[in-house]
Amino acid sequence: MKLRKVTAATAVVLALAVSATACGKDDKKDGGSSGGKKIKIGIKFDQPGLGQKTPQGYTGFDVDVATYVAKELGYNADQIEWKESKSMDRETMLQRGDVDFIAATYSINDEREKKVDFAGPYLLAHQDVLVRADDNSIKSPEDLNSKKLCSVTGSTSAQNVHDKLAPKANLQEYPTYSACLTGLQNKAIDALTTDDSILAGYASQAAFKGKFKLGGLKMTNENYGIGVKKGSDLKAKINTALEKMVADKSWQQAVDKNLGPANYKNEPAPKIGNIVK
Ligand code: GLU
Repeated sequence: MKLRKVTAATAVVLALAVSATACGKDDKKDGGSSGGKKIKIGIKFDQPGLGQKTPQGYTGFDVDVATYVAKELGYNADQIEWKESKSMDRETMLQRGDVDFIAATYSINDEREKKVDFAGPYLLAHQDVLVRADDNSIKSPEDLNSKKLCSVTGSTSAQNVHDKLAPKANLQEYPTYSACLTGLQNKAIDALTTDDSILAGYASQAAFKGKFKLGGLKMTNENYGIGVKKGSDLKAKINTALEKMVADKSWQQAVDKNLGPANYKNEPAPKIGNIVK
């Protein structure tokens, strides 16, 4: 009997720890206006600091933003079902209704806006390169033309390399950024290119300490939006939630907590609807 009580108490503590970031005082199992319903949210599972699945739960800036937004929509943290949304799957997942919204380092652009709608933006990042710590050969985007690069299928990062940054580069496309890291370590590739926010998260991982560095190139503007199904009334509600998150300082706290450890120098909170070209 005693043992069972202890176990139940431990379970409660664990559940609270997992959902600690966004839960208010009214974090009850069936609390919230949505009762026992669930909300499905797409995030990345392998991007430390942004969206990461760990044995302790889901962590990162996108996770905290999504959890805050879900709360404003009437869902407690324990009513969220997290789904992995890889870069190439995001539009399809929204169109099919696999998820209610996506917060996954998802840049707003014209091509994507033909298929889905975006709330936000809620973060401004810039495309950069991650190289081995002893490599000083990349000083500008043109230098990438003679390099073996790795990026991800369906990302703006890969598309920008092809279209404008370095069309002559030898670009390998993988399904995830974490898949590129091994190649960078064993010299199968020269550089991993994507948003500086993502690269800072990888560079600061204990396993890679001192091995990689960012180029600091700021090659593009990546305006992160929250993707919803085209025409969804969620867009307006999410924008209201994001404005509140900035106003009540939760946005800055989430930045400091998640991107601070990687020493990421973030841009100020974007204004809703203001896309930096
Ligand atoms: N923000 C860029 C994009 O939406 C790169 C990061 C990613 O692939 O998630 O494509």
